[in-house]
Parts: sequence; C-alpha cells; structure tokens
Amino acid sequence: MSTDPLSLDVYVAPMRPYASPDQLGEGEVATWAPSSSTLISGPTEGILIDALLTFDNADQIAEMAKRSGKNITGVYITHGHGDHWLGLARLLEHFPDARGFAAPEVAARAAWEADIDKKTGYWTSRFPGELPETPVLPEEISDDEIMVDGQVVNLIHIGQGDIDGSTIFHVPAADAVVAGDVVYNNVHMMFYEADAAKREAWIASIDAIAALNAKTVVAGHKSVGAADLPENTLAVSQQYVRDFNASAKDAGTVEDIVNRMLELHGERDQPHTLWISARAEIARRA
Ligand SMILES: [Zn+2]
Repeated sequence: MSTDPLSLDVYVAPMRPYASPDQLGEGEVATWAPSSSTLISGPTEGILIDALLTFDNADQIAEMAKRSGKNITGVYITHGHGDHWLGLARLLEHFPDARGFAAPEVAARAAWEADIDKKTGYWTSRFPGELPETPVLPEEISDDEIMVDGQVVNLIHIGQGDIDGSTIFHVPAADAVVAGDVVYNNVHMMFYEADAAKREAWIASIDAIAALNAKTVVAGHKSVGAADLPENTLAVSQQYVRDFNASAKDAGTVEDIVNRMLELHGERDQPHTLWISARAEIARRA
C-alpha cells in the first residue's frame, strides 16, 4: 500500500448567462451557477470528480488534468443533474483511455435526465450549441472503493443533497471531501426539488459530512476563489437551509422569500437560483 498522500486541484467554471425560459422577476438575471470539478491525484494517477456541462467546461477541466501530467483513470459523477455530467462526452475525447463512472442511483438519474432532454430539450435549449448531440452516460459502479496510486477514495451514498440519490467522495489520504451539491460555498442553494421534508434530510446529510472531520471540503457550486474549507461549506449551508425555511414559512409571495433571503445572504453568487427556489416553494403550496 502506498503511503504517498493524494492531492486535490479544483477547477471552477465561473457564473455565466444562459438561455432561461423562465419568466424572470424584478431585477432577476438568468445566470448559471459557478460549478466545480476536482482532480484527485497521487504521484502518477488521477481521477476527476464531475465533468460539468458544456464543451468549454470539459475543455477547461481537461486542461487542468493535462497540466498535472497524471494518468487520468476515470471520471466519477457526484449526482445525476446534467450540469455535473453532460460534459462527459467531450471530456472523454481528451482522455480516450478513461471512462465515466457513477453509483447506480446516480447513473439512473443521469439516464433519466438524458431522456428528458431528448423529449423536451431541457438542457440543449438552455445551452444551444454547447452540448453534445448524443450524451455519454456514466457507467454504473458497484465498488465504492476507488484506488488512486494505491490509496483509497471512498464513494459514500450520502442521499439527500439538492437531489436525493446524491453521492460524495471522501479522500482520507488528502483529508478531504468532494461533496457535490450537498454543500454550497458562497452560492445560493437550489431547492427546486427539495421540499421542507427533503431539506431536513439534507441538513442530516451535511451532519454526516461534518462527521468525517475533513480539512478540505469542495462544494459542487462555489464562487471562483472561495476557499474549500469546512467553515465555508458545512454549518453555513445548514444555516442557509434553516434561513430559507424561516423565510418561506409565512411568506405570501416569491418576492417575500427572495427579499428576506437576500437580506441574510446577499453576498452569495447566483441569486437566480434563489428565485427558482422561491418560485418552486410557492408553487408547492398551490
Ligand atoms: Zn448542480
């Protein structure tokens, strides 16, 4: 067994505009959240966590990985949302010997998203000309221990994040967790699919990450330059969930929720996500 520690490199795709079909609120701008992909590497080998979305995202991730000089053995996906895996087709063109992998629950959700896109153009209409015509789906893996230069990276079925069936990657040899969309770092959190009950489960998922006591925690959505620290990602994400619960509790309108949350969390990137969360919350009451 190697005793060389593993190290992490994180690429962050900046917040950017996209073609939103939503009826926007007063002052709302349709942007896509800044998003991360992480290289976990030892002396000779590396794996990537998340492939992100567009051709450009994948090219930038590939550049980071090639710069490292490591042999990329696989790309692993945290959860099934298209903005974390649709970049796989392009990314694997850069690394023809590598393959894309995910836990069965993640692979199943990814397949569902590909199907929805075929039927409704959900993703391709939002990013015209920037996505593959035929997506490459991650392959199901059954072994939760991934080897990188003789060190174990553990895939953990954490459950509820911004969707259920989310996974995270614990890297004991780097004292790090790559947490996907179970935590956010200075970015508004997405509650489109997370009602009040799921938000309680989400808080518990973050407790489970905190129990790993890692020194580094990488959020799936983070501001460019934000430090990947527990204090930027764990309790603050839980507090954001609780503040949303409180803001939504007796709010009459979408704007009520947005304004209350902006007072508390106005420094975060991606207020468009807050609008989407608020619209979903009000719609759930109807
Ligand atoms: Zn996401």
